[in-house]
Amino acid sequence: MAQPRGQQKIQSQQKNAKKQAGQKKKQGHDQKAAAKAALIYTCTVCRTQMPDPKTFKQHFESKHPKTPLPPELADVQA
Ligand SMILES: [Zn+2]
Repeated sequence: MAQPRGQQKIQSQQKNAKKQAGQKKKQGHDQKAAAKAALIYTCTVCRTQMPDPKTFKQHFESKHPKTPLPPELADVQA
C-alpha cells in the first residue's frame, strides 16, 4: 500500500530538519576548532597563547602585574 503524498512530504521535511540540525551541530564544532586554532595573542612575558585580547589582558594583569601593559592592550576593556 502506497503512502498518501501528503504524508511523504511531511516525512521528507522531517528528514531535512534533522539533516539541517546535524549540519548546525557540525558548524558549531568547526567554530570551536577554529577558535582553538586562532590563539593569536601571545604573552610577551611567558609566551602563553590566548584567543582574544580580553583574556590576554586579564592574564597579563594577574600574572605579570609588575610588567608594563603592552600598548595594544591599553584600550582593551577587561
Ligand atoms: Zn604571561
